[in-house]
Amino acid sequence: MRYRFIRCATLLVFLAALGACGGKAPPDVQSGRTIVLGFDGMDPRLAAQWMDSGDLPHFAQLAQQGYFGSLGTTIPAQSPVAWSSFATGTQPGQHGIYDFLRREKESYLPSFSVSETIFPDAALDLFGWHIPLADASIRNRRVGAPFWEDWESRGGSATVLRVPVTYPPDDIDHMIAGMGVPDLLGTQGTYTLYSTRPVAGGESGRVVLMKAGEDGRIETALAGPPHPLKQALEPLETPLQFYPAEGGTGVVLGERDFVLAQGEWSDWVAVSFDLLGVIRIRGVVRLHLLEDYPRPRVYVSPIQIDPHNPLAPISSPPDYAGKLADRIGMFHTIGMPEETWSLNNGHLTDEAFLEMIETTFAEREAMLFDALENNGSDLVVGVFVQTDRVSHMFYRGLDPQHALYGETGARARGAIAWSYREADRVLGRVMEQLREGDRLIVLSDHGFSPYRWSVNLNAWLRDNGYLALQDGSGTSDVGFAQVDWSRTRAYAVGLNSLYLNLAGREAQGIVGAEEVDELKRELSRGLLAMRDPQREQPVVKTVYDGSRVYSGNANGDAPDLVVGYHRGYRASWQTTLGAAPAELISINRGKWSGDHCVAVDEVPGVLFTSFKLEQRVDSIEQVAQLAMQGRRAQP
Ligand SMILES: [Zn+2]
Repeated sequence: MRYRFIRCATLLVFLAALGACGGKAPPDVQSGRTIVLGFDGMDPRLAAQWMDSGDLPHFAQLAQQGYFGSLGTTIPAQSPVAWSSFATGTQPGQHGIYDFLRREKESYLPSFSVSETIFPDAALDLFGWHIPLADASIRNRRVGAPFWEDWESRGGSATVLRVPVTYPPDDIDHMIAGMGVPDLLGTQGTYTLYSTRPVAGGESGRVVLMKAGEDGRIETALAGPPHPLKQALEPLETPLQFYPAEGGTGVVLGERDFVLAQGEWSDWVAVSFDLLGVIRIRGVVRLHLLEDYPRPRVYVSPIQIDPHNPLAPISSPPDYAGKLADRIGMFHTIGMPEETWSLNNGHLTDEAFLEMIETTFAEREAMLFDALENNGSDLVVGVFVQTDRVSHMFYRGLDPQHALYGETGARARGAIAWSYREADRVLGRVMEQLREGDRLIVLSDHGFSPYRWSVNLNAWLRDNGYLALQDGSGTSDVGFAQVDWSRTRAYAVGLNSLYLNLAGREAQGIVGAEEVDELKRELSRGLLAMRDPQREQPVVKTVYDGSRVYSGNANGDAPDLVVGYHRGYRASWQTTLGAAPAELISINRGKWSGDHCVAVDEVPGVLFTSFKLEQRVDSIEQVAQLAMQGRRAQP
């Protein structure tokens, strides 16, 4: 999933140049490898249905020879939470990732829970210039050691590809970082739409309105990272031109001059942003022509860190990403490259989105087989997130109750089944390469559920007297802009998290420690009794008490309550960002039509193994141990 809140630009340009730190020589692996494939969001019901219909022959074969079952997910059922449990073999209370978003206790503002940039305090502000006196650093907020480090400390060699919450990359033999890697702007993905007609803006995107000259030529610019030395964070820019051409729209960008046909994606285009003529910040983009002349409309992907010239570490060893790109071609480096927001905003078509998914799928596949061939690792872990992204955006094709079901075309309707067949094809290729003694584990982090109705949880808290607004306000904008903290006892941020406004913890907390248990009980009772006024049905299936379901409170971010919705419901986007709109529940009319942020027993993941299980594996954090058995079995 991609979220828009990670706007605050990180000054990547100040990251220290990477020191070379070479990996160990690859061991000669004869047999006994452990290969772990993750297919994010693969749902056991859909997998079983399509195994039965013969669409997933390799999954069916694996189920028959080894094991297939559903796999318990984390509380809550969110990718960064569940993959952190997978990596560390622990529950959220220990690894410290509880939601896509956490809240800052000082400001109550939402922030990305996966990684954070720590800015140097020391800076010199002079004549409008902002000169930091030390380098910024980036921290992965996941606490605890991932099992691949344990694997290597026991003499093994690991390759880990695109597992979420691995940024900055762990120091192992081979890693390509996944969710958490920012774009060149320091965000989790900001695209740009160039148009000659006014277009409504949207989350995570920038719209640039352009005007053609008499000959049709258009001179514009691609805005890059903020100027690191200017206080106002003005962006650095690189020129961009469009012109009418035979067969499409001509594009001049970076050192390239090429023609794009309508509906076509370009290959990678290198761009650079000059800083005072001294430093060049390099990135790569792809362009897509939505509409040709006379009214050209062009989509430019988020500016990715160039694997050959990474401004920030995206692989271990640092030169692995560049060497990999030499062998398999350039690839998307940002942690969440699938352009879900562009599609949800109507800035990309279903077809363009699916083509983009095909590209990232092929990149991940090439990475995986390159690693199996070249890295000499006896542990290879690779996660494919395309199954999750396609399920988010095309559940509307499977769900007759979704507002867009009727207008979802044939290709879109078959998109989820297609993504599962692609997973099956990759699985088949891996199974072909298995050697005597190899162990194959396939899992997902959670399943899927329809997303038909959005719940404004902060509106419910307001209507029931837990969240107070400033005098004269009936609603609150994002970031709790109109909330009166001196009278607020509870608030919601993120996809499932609810917090008390606790005295001594929150900056303006008013709830005393002695009131906590009773207030949590009261809130739980109220949430379970909440009815959808239009559909006259309950909304919340389970409320989890943070102090009971989490042993420990790593990072100090554990929510007080975790809200598990019934299938069909999900926290609204406004809720995730701390807004309280007027209505309690609204119909979801977006293409983002499937989700998994519901009661966790509704959305287990899958587990397949090529071998018989010696003991039950009930939940995702136990998969780390299951994988480690492969290391222990080796001589
Ligand atoms: Zn997801």
